[in-house]
Amino acid sequence: MSNPPPVLTIDGPSGAGKGTVSRIAATRLGWHYLDSGALYRAVGVAASWADLDLSDPAALVRCTFDTDIRFHEREGGDLRVLVNGVDATDELRLETTGTVASAIAAIPEVRAALKDRQRAFRQSPGLVADGRDMGTVIFPDAPYKVFLTASADERAERRYKQLKDKGVSVTIDGLLREILARDARDAQRTVAPLRPADDAVPIDTTGLDIDEVVARVLAVVKPQG
Ligand code: C5P
Repeated sequence: MSNPPPVLTIDGPSGAGKGTVSRIAATRLGWHYLDSGALYRAVGVAASWADLDLSDPAALVRCTFDTDIRFHEREGGDLRVLVNGVDATDELRLETTGTVASAIAAIPEVRAALKDRQRAFRQSPGLVADGRDMGTVIFPDAPYKVFLTASADERAERRYKQLKDKGVSVTIDGLLREILARDARDAQRTVAPLRPADDAVPIDTTGLDIDEVVARVLAVVKPQG
């Protein structure tokens, strides 16, 4: 039997720089890219559009099965996410969507329903998978795993800059509170909690710029690849 395509898993808490670093790493390696958080966010957006009750797991599980999620890369590398045919990319990035996504992501049946969709991204010549449980649950056999962290203050500041550049009005204090609440929920849930895989290489990105982080991440792939 031929070997499955290699996977580089990049897990960590919100705002650790996973998205930017994963996309650059995927481009450099010439591999596919999975933004697993976007799947949970997309279900969150679909649930909000349908005005679903977030305390009704059965409705949210149905919504997960019924939601059509497509990634579409525009010329120049701009990645758009279509939810039931509607471009929801901007709404997906909102902090409020992240909070809804994290509530939905704590439902075991929702996670189970998204498992195969995530594994389908593992295609030749390789995959960079960004999320919370890529190295522990979705691709436990991945040959390359990293776990990115950064101090909560720095993560709030990075998120603040990102959102401000997009013209979204937020405060650092508010973001810090949301980030800490989301981290706590992601780390404490019983199913697939946020934690490093035993064989993941930890990288603390506090004080590092993107190029330095990318170099460290790619060094995990290069020696063996
Ligand atoms: O990474 P991102 O901030 O887009 O993820 C949004 C939320 O989706 C996270 O706070 C987390 O609750 C959930 N998530 C998850 N497992 C993943 C990716 C995201 O539970 N693999």
